[in-house]
Amino acid sequence: MPELPEVEVTRRGLESQLVGRRIGPVAVREARLRWRVPATVRQLSGRSVRAVKRRGKYLLLDCGDGHLIVHLGMSGSLRLVEPGTAPGKHDHVDVAIGERLLRLRDPRRFGAVLWTAEPPEAHPLLRHLGIEPLSRALDARRLHALTRASRVPIKPFLMDGRRVVGVGNIYASESLFLAGINPRTPARRLSMERCRQLVPAIKATLRAAIRAGGSSLRDFVGSDGVEGYFQVRAWVYDREGKPCRRCGRLIRRLVQGQRATYYCPRCQR
Ligand code: ZN
Repeated sequence: MPELPEVEVTRRGLESQLVGRRIGPVAVREARLRWRVPATVRQLSGRSVRAVKRRGKYLLLDCGDGHLIVHLGMSGSLRLVEPGTAPGKHDHVDVAIGERLLRLRDPRRFGAVLWTAEPPEAHPLLRHLGIEPLSRALDARRLHALTRASRVPIKPFLMDGRRVVGVGNIYASESLFLAGINPRTPARRLSMERCRQLVPAIKATLRAAIRAGGSSLRDFVGSDGVEGYFQVRAWVYDREGKPCRRCGRLIRRLVQGQRATYYCPRCQR
């Protein structure tokens, strides 16, 4: 599933190629994605791309008086192709932009392509999203405050998109390792000192993945659904029973909120 780093790499790729370009016809070959692609997406034609933004895992093409909202779902990818490139079976939407086509491929069809003339923050899909982990708004003080009313351990807390958006399973495990925090620690018991360790750990983990993705980006924009495409070498994730890269103790696995968590019992207290 495309995670925040993949979406951010896609955003950067699109931004460098699309800003200032004029939008031409929109072709919808299959409207049945997670939500039906509305006929209003055709309103894009004739507009220009002002900016390419991201909120959580949503990409937002800012067209001035409206936004195209794109979510890659479980298996989506966006790429820029030359006009006349024959679409494959899972290439559901093309938007002509500048000289090329922005093409959405989504084999499992859990993605979304929507149009909104309202400010995108007010859209029902975006309204309840939590704080952006890479923004300055997420600092130790804010994390400390957010965790006070929580009733869950810190690992599922980090994965709750209504609190902090876009910290997926891999990144939550890796951030907690870097911060030396046991994933079972109740979120509300995290001290300010530990929040000061965790916040930079989250940002560093996400940034490392963005760098790893950015370096492999060419004409191709975004995830191709290739497992591990953006993964950097993991400290703990998916390493159950293997020695900790820092202390040698065997990495353990536990399940929290139906998701696997990996941690080092010595490095993370
Ligand atoms: Zn260790």
